[in-house]
Amino acid sequence: MTGWTDMMDKAVIVYGAGISGRGAAEVLVRRGQQVFLYNDDPCTLDEELLAALRAVGGDLLVGEEAFAEALAKAGLLVLSPGVPCDNKNVLLAEKTEGVEVISEVELAYRLYGGHMAAITGTNGKTTTTTIVGEMFKRLPVPSAVGGNIGLALSKEVEGLPEEAWLAAELSSFQLEKVKTFRPDIAVVLNLTPDHLERHHSMAAYGEAKKNIFRQQGVSQITVLNYDDPEVRTWSKDSKGTICFFSRKTVLPQGIFMQNGDFVIKWNDTTKVVCNIDELKLFGGHNEENVLAAIACGFFAGVSVEDMADVLRNFRSIEHRLEYVRTLKGVPYYNDSKATNTDSAIKALEAFSKGHIILLAGGHDKLTELEPMMALVKEKCDALILLGEAKERFYAAAQAAGVENIVLADSFADAVHKAYAMAQPPQVVLLSPACSSYDMFKNYPERGRYFKELVNALPL
Ligand code: ADP
Repeated sequence: MTGWTDMMDKAVIVYGAGISGRGAAEVLVRRGQQVFLYNDDPCTLDEELLAALRAVGGDLLVGEEAFAEALAKAGLLVLSPGVPCDNKNVLLAEKTEGVEVISEVELAYRLYGGHMAAITGTNGKTTTTTIVGEMFKRLPVPSAVGGNIGLALSKEVEGLPEEAWLAAELSSFQLEKVKTFRPDIAVVLNLTPDHLERHHSMAAYGEAKKNIFRQQGVSQITVLNYDDPEVRTWSKDSKGTICFFSRKTVLPQGIFMQNGDFVIKWNDTTKVVCNIDELKLFGGHNEENVLAAIACGFFAGVSVEDMADVLRNFRSIEHRLEYVRTLKGVPYYNDSKATNTDSAIKALEAFSKGHIILLAGGHDKLTELEPMMALVKEKCDALILLGEAKERFYAAAQAAGVENIVLADSFADAVHKAYAMAQPPQVVLLSPACSSYDMFKNYPERGRYFKELVNALPL
């Protein structure tokens, strides 16, 4: 990869003053670049950033008129992931001669000279990227984790040397408007309907995701999920070297599971990394995440021993099938991140022995409930419902023939009801299948409250 060392003569407009936009502006300003940070709505910046912008002849701008003035001085517009590509001003910039429009991720790529494993998919991005980040820490070179995870990618790559390895989590939004972006390793985990309000169609959503490998050649690796019928066909769209992973099929070449072993088979090498029974992480979906992570570790040069050590010690990340504690022989799990029925289904499937006391409900997304309730009937000893969604969930559970359904008066009441009835070999699982906005700011706040309540229960 080539780092972007030259400054531009013309100004840069950073469009959108959210986390990514502010981060990008900060980095560019530090390089002495004139930057206009533009936001559609009025907003405030911290004094330091504002002063830094002004010191290089830039500013924070709001409003159409200010945008037109900035555009006349600009050579580049950097788009924050929160801003849709069909934004009026962005379209105007694209039509303006001498102005290039790129995403914040493309900017980060141009500023960075090191190695990168980029990871996308509808689900499992954070888990996989976190595991890969842990594996990269075992390399004898600097490494970092970034992207969708919370900080601006352009800020995170700042100061990293050429030999560094970066694990980057990328959403489909971030993959719009990338141009030269070419990670050493590109991973696509899966593709299910999501974010259609912005991409308008599954085809457009898929095309955005394909940008992760679009510029790759044979020297780069495209890692694809063989078990996902759509993603598997993408091998024909990539010019990179394809490495499939599968938990269902023993592949002639790739990363796969065989008798519970995670196996790497590549050219003349066959290596077993470790066995599923050695992991603390559980659930079929996590097996896929682990396979994808192994692919990244392998091609970045992490030893099999180091990968095995990372995997054996990796616990789930917070709010994703997170083990809280065991009370009277009953383990409690926090899966507050399950804000839709698909995720709740994954959680229910992960408990192969069933006997689940499920806490579900919250802000109702009005999605279809039949597939989830069929699984609830099969796997759950009790269903405790809470929040705005509880009446509709109750009706759907009854229709599916679920027998033990309880309505809770409050979140705390739901936890106390679960505690009062739970006995081994049961497990208590919070996997709401709803967003949290009826009672909480977001799913982490809900998960933390759940853990507080569980931790306060008497032994
Ligand atoms: P993301 O960052 O893509 O939102 P996370 O790693 O945070 O993904 O996982 C979020 C939820 O998605 C998990 O709680 C689980 O329900 C589901 N999930 C995780 N990995 C996968 C996968 N590989 N396939 C399908 N669903 C998954």
